[in-house]
Amino acid sequence: MIVAEQKPLEEIKSMIADARKVLVLGCGTCVTVCFAGGEKEVSILASQLRMATRLDGQEKEIRELTVQRQCEYEYNELAADHVRDADMVISLACGIGVQTMNEQYPEKLTVPGLNTSGLSQPTEQGVWEERCQACGNCVLHLTGGLCPVARCAKSLLNGPCGGSQRGICEVYAERETPCVWDQIYHRLKDLGQLDKLLEIEPAKNWHTSRDGGQRKIVREDLRL
Ligand code: SF4
Ligand code: SF4
Repeated sequence: MIVAEQKPLEEIKSMIADARKVLVLGCGTCVTVCFAGGEKEVSILASQLRMATRLDGQEKEIRELTVQRQCEYEYNELAADHVRDADMVISLACGIGVQTMNEQYPEKLTVPGLNTSGLSQPTEQGVWEERCQACGNCVLHLTGGLCPVARCAKSLLNGPCGGSQRGICEVYAERETPCVWDQIYHRLKDLGQLDKLLEIEPAKNWHTSRDGGQRKIVREDLRL
């Protein structure tokens, strides 16, 4: 899922300093599941802003709403009246939702209330670990299903850098982050596929990743 974390309250307050009526708009999908931007978080942020702006002597009218998916126009249409009535919108969606709102309602500025952090897996309650960087050319079939692009600090594709100690990545040693190449080795060993490590992977063509600029998928079979 896409994961995100709420920005500090002071940063959010500074973004809405010039507005009097503010809509806090949540998203009911990924950011609800990662407890960053769903109905509950919208309600908490709206209350915090009401109290904080009152204490600052600049009380604002803070409204709240959550749509099912902020990255699609049809769901945001339900927010039209609220957006029209507000001076500014704080989006508690990922960066895609924020941009969708700005495109859909260009007459109102939508500002980000969250920092979007990645494509992650919830590994235990309250913990999300990055698993994919959407490189556009998946290599998981070569690496036992573990992603060296997202999980190796150097995104190495032909084995470890040699700096890991007891299976811990040298870059994130203080965080005790596992060296994914150590994990790949053990995974391939368990699968009886260690021979895969002997094959040299040619330099990856990164044009399918962010390095090739903004990406776009067009499915002609789905277009109207
Ligand atoms: S190889 Fe690319 S697409 Fe596959 S999991 Fe890693 S980053 Fe994602
Ligand atoms: S120690 Fe392992 S995970 Fe860390 S940078 Fe080196 S190969 Fe990548």
